[in-house]
Amino acid sequence: MRSLPIPPDLKDFARVLIDAGFRCYIVGGAVRDGLLGRPVSDYDAATDAPPEEVRRLFRRVIPTGIQHGTVTVLWKGRSIETTTFRREAGYSDGRRPDRVEFGASLEEDLERRDFTINAMALEPLSGALVDPHDGRGDLARRLVRAVGEAAERFDEDGLRPLRAIRFASQLGFEIEAATLEAIPAALPRFSGVSAERLRVEFEKILLSDEPSRGLRLMEKTGMLAVALPELAACRGVEQKGFHRFDVLDHLLASVDAAPKDPVLRLAALLHDLGKPATRVEGSDGVASFHRHEEVSARQAAELLRRLRFPNAVQDEVVHLVRQHMFFYEEGWTDAAVRRFLARVGPSKVEALFALRLADAAGTVGAPVDPRSLDPLRRRIERVIEAEEALGLKDLAIGGAELAAIGVPKGPAMGRLLAELLETVLDDPEQNTAERLLRIARGIMPKYGITPPLGGVNAGGQAAEEKP
Ligand code: ATP
Ligand code: MG
Repeated sequence: MRSLPIPPDLKDFARVLIDAGFRCYIVGGAVRDGLLGRPVSDYDAATDAPPEEVRRLFRRVIPTGIQHGTVTVLWKGRSIETTTFRREAGYSDGRRPDRVEFGASLEEDLERRDFTINAMALEPLSGALVDPHDGRGDLARRLVRAVGEAAERFDEDGLRPLRAIRFASQLGFEIEAATLEAIPAALPRFSGVSAERLRVEFEKILLSDEPSRGLRLMEKTGMLAVALPELAACRGVEQKGFHRFDVLDHLLASVDAAPKDPVLRLAALLHDLGKPATRVEGSDGVASFHRHEEVSARQAAELLRRLRFPNAVQDEVVHLVRQHMFFYEEGWTDAAVRRFLARVGPSKVEALFALRLADAAGTVGAPVDPRSLDPLRRRIERVIEAEEALGLKDLAIGGAELAAIGVPKGPAMGRLLAELLETVLDDPEQNTAERLLRIARGIMPKYGITPPLGGVNAGGQAAEEKP
């Protein structure tokens, strides 16, 4: 295992504290990832300086969690989370310590940390490693091991079991036997963890090289059924002949195959969530899942809302899930391509294609040729180049023009515009103001709108005003 290169500006940061008579260590993920030779994104520091001293010593300090002794020092383009050595006492809610005591030693501070690989400290000037729990040994053994008694540590904070799984998934590590065995008994604690904290860890699992590793650990320990019961319900749901896997294994293979992007990984994981509820087995023993994409979309929406994913993420994922069942063949007319594009949205096509490739890879259990989507891609490019209407905003007339011929604002106007768009998607030639107004007048009665002042004459023009 390599020793850790410390960036010079970080040494300068440490010197400020040391020159003021304090100690300063690099702790947490930076030490762990640095020793593993993985890229280090941000540095956490630990010091015996009280938070007020840290605020005094540096010019730009954000009081991130000052009651817990954490401030963020903005230093030469970095944000260094700096935490005062502390010990924690009494976790009556399994979430946060009842009391945080400062004045602790470095060793006590390391003792309160979750896993041995996260409980090392590096002295930045000398490069000396303080490692009382043999974190380095566990890095070499590739093990996630709780500091101290796993059951106790999980009882203090119900999030820790999921963090164990997150690190195993991110680093490709095993969870040490006693630590793993303590997870099932910690599930009641885990179920009380806030959605926000859960989401942070879940997202890191999703963005690891092989998210299925973490998700399988979640399943095996019973955590999946607690946190994501919709997903757990996909186990054992058998599919049609060309599928190699049951629904859960298919979703796990799909999420592994999806690009490392939160929206795509979520869409790949959730795209068939509605299959258990829609499964019908024919007399020939073959299962079908009629309109499962609609049910999947609704269940995905509920799951993402529950985990408090940002609205934009929820919307994008749900849209992709809802649209994932398209089957292009050469026989598609141009109108069919335009309708597909109107439904999916030109800006979402590549994401939907990425989902399709992940879905296909998750069906056969091997990567699929990305060029398989090129024929549809070329048809789409042609439609886009032709600049034909694909949405309401591209129509030659809008609400104002319809209002002028007597269509009241409201749901009927919306439905009328939607039908005009359908017409134009079928035949772009119809997209002129004159033609669309004529069509609108013709179909107004169908939407319960009586054309004012005498209705529609044979030519499709409104009758002349009568005195
Ligand atoms: P990442 O690379 O995701 O930032 P990290 O190990 O730095 O990984 P953080 O959540 O940033 O994780 O936490 C920093 C350190 O604080 C951890 O390495 C660990 O020592 C400690 N820590 C964080 N969360 C907990 C927790 N729930 N219980 C105990 N210690 C924790
Ligand atoms: Mg960190």
